[in-house]
Amino acid sequence: MLAIRVEKTINPKPLPEPENPLKFGTIFTDHMFIMNYETGKGWHDPRIVPYQPVVLEPSAMVFHYGQEMFEGLKAYRADDGRILLFRPDMNAKRTNHTNERLCIPKIPEEDFVQAVKELVKIDAAWIPNRKETSLYIRPFIIATDPFLGVRPSDTYLFMIILSPVGAYYPEGLNPVKIWIEDDYVRAVRGGIGEAKTGGNYVASMAAQLKAHEEGYSQVLWLDGVERKYIEEVGAMNIFFKIRGTVLTPMLNGSILPGITRNSVIALCKEWGLPVEERRISVEELYEASKNGDMEEVFGTGTAAVISPVGHLRFQDHVIQIQDGGIGELSQKLYDTVTGIQLGRIPDIRGWITEVK
Ligand SMILES: *Cc1c(COP(=O)(O)O)cnc(C)c1O
Repeated sequence: MLAIRVEKTINPKPLPEPENPLKFGTIFTDHMFIMNYETGKGWHDPRIVPYQPVVLEPSAMVFHYGQEMFEGLKAYRADDGRILLFRPDMNAKRTNHTNERLCIPKIPEEDFVQAVKELVKIDAAWIPNRKETSLYIRPFIIATDPFLGVRPSDTYLFMIILSPVGAYYPEGLNPVKIWIEDDYVRAVRGGIGEAKTGGNYVASMAAQLKAHEEGYSQVLWLDGVERKYIEEVGAMNIFFKIRGTVLTPMLNGSILPGITRNSVIALCKEWGLPVEERRISVEELYEASKNGDMEEVFGTGTAAVISPVGHLRFQDHVIQIQDGGIGELSQKLYDTVTGIQLGRIPDIRGWITEVK
């Protein structure tokens, strides 16, 4: 149990107007959580303070060698006013999995969850309650030793900031167009693809720009070696429904183990659908689409929950998915996961943590 010191702001910011659409990640709440680490001393001085700039030396290691990690989850306001978190224990576990890969010291899972809960409680007024809105929670860790040598840092900062977010699809679920990238590579097995860290995102930007120029909203990555097998979309895992079977690439070390992915697999299995986690080639997708067997394609991630895909492009081939609308399974998964998150569907799986 952390003994969190709390220093409340004396200058609360105005809350965003409920009718203004909130652009993702642009507004931050009144407070932040911060905790230090030092070799020999461990994690210490956990505190919630007014949201403020962080002062670092220009030589701080994070600026040079990228030793940093992040997480992403949301707090939801249920119809009855309760504040709910969706599987925060999974974010805590994944944090330590990422930390292990990046040589960042671990954080006890219960401390991670406690810090998230206490911060959300203090800024609870910032949780929007309009349809499909939520409070995005961004925990992250940076290496702070003022040192230009290459080695794991001896000091770190663990911080959590909060940002109210609007509906991902204000006009309802909207199918996206996805570009299958065969030149740039995001991650390779043995690399850092399964760690949630900025390095994977900077590796993806050039392809993202290229896809945007071609009129595509997201990039679907192939394996870094053969460039034949599907991995994942920028910040989403990917699923296909082919002839009644739900397919998703197996976690092979270069794919981020999404919590939404894990939840979707569990739900599909509960519903009696065959689910296969395995290697999936572009060729197989193309064949399935040619034969009329491609029933649904969707991405999964905390931001959009379920993101239907209407159109895939690989080199000169276009794979049009059904009529470009939303598949039945995609819609059912979206309704179920968001229903659980908002407390409308009973939490029989132990996925919900209440903040109180
Ligand atoms: C965070 C993330 C996801 C989605 O994970 P969720 O836990 O479902 O939000 C997928 N891919 C990448 C690269 C990510 O960083």
